Amino acid sequence: MSNINEDYIEDYIREVIKESSVFLKKLEEYAHKNHIPIIHPEVAQFLKVLIKIKKPKEILEIGTAIGYSAIVMAEAMDSYGKITTIERREDMINLAQSNFTECNLIERINVIHGDANEVLPKLQGSFDLIFLDAAKSKYMDFLPYFINNLTSGGVIISDNVLYKGMIANDDLVVRRQKTIVRRMREYLDYICNNEIFESSIIPIGDGVALTYKRED
Ligand code: SAH
Ligand code: MG
Repeated sequence: MSNINEDYIEDYIREVIKESSVFLKKLEEYAHKNHIPIIHPEVAQFLKVLIKIKKPKEILEIGTAIGYSAIVMAEAMDSYGKITTIERREDMINLAQSNFTECNLIERINVIHGDANEVLPKLQGSFDLIFLDAAKSKYMDFLPYFINNLTSGGVIISDNVLYKGMIANDDLVVRRQKTIVRRMREYLDYICNNEIFESSIIPIGDGVALTYKRED
């Protein structure tokens, strides 16, 4: 029970979408066993379709973990598309690199080791799609850097924005998650109500926000 959707809706969507490749299934099992929060299957599918439509050349990801979502995105991109992904845990980076090597994606995915708080202010380059899937209380802090690094007409996809339903309902909020909930609500309020962005909050997975940066 995700508190976002009825189980029968989620089960049905998972049943009807295409099955993952053998390699991705192996990563899904590893993530499940080791409690690594990779994107849900319906979110992976959403990313794939969006990438096919948007055709980004450069993607920025915050939160690599074992590289599952980066692989999903790289495989959905055209073969020249590149991904830069930021991860603070060295053990995760090592796993991700070996997974990228196994999929022949090592040349297209650049992993940056460090805390996004420190990496983002120095990051050069411009991205046409940003996938935000790291510390939920930091989304609001990361945003100013995205405004600079995202092309006009670019998109931000933010994962876990409804965080087990807590963001939408105070009765579900666990005491020690109060700060995360407050900060995520600030983030959603900001991306939904300003001049630069146009956002849609989509109740799939753990909640996904799709944000469009208006063209100049
Ligand atoms: N996107 C991955 C899952 C990421 S899980 C997938 O779907 O396959 C979130 C990851 O973000 C964790 O590995 C965690 O170590 C990393 N993380 C959290 N906060 C971070 C930060 N401030 N800077 C860099 N990495 C961060
Ligand atoms: Mg996530």
